[in-house]
Amino acid sequence: MPEYVSVIFCRKCGSRYVEINTWSNGNAVATCRTCRYSVELPGFTLGRCAVTRKELDIARNTIARINDFEK
Ligand SMILES: [Zn+2]
Repeated sequence: MPEYVSVIFCRKCGSRYVEINTWSNGNAVATCRTCRYSVELPGFTLGRCAVTRKELDIARNTIARINDFEK
């Protein structure tokens, strides 16, 4: 039985290389390693684990969009 997790992608460039390198005002600052876009994420942080390419493709295909919920 698989265990489901959420994956964060950069909305500016679509990259999956989003990291938290700094904190600001007690908030994690998510930074895209590809395009360098960064923003505070109040109330959230990230974990990391390995997934297969297929699982990553599934995550991309189920990206939440404005007024469109997760599949
Ligand atoms: Zn980016």
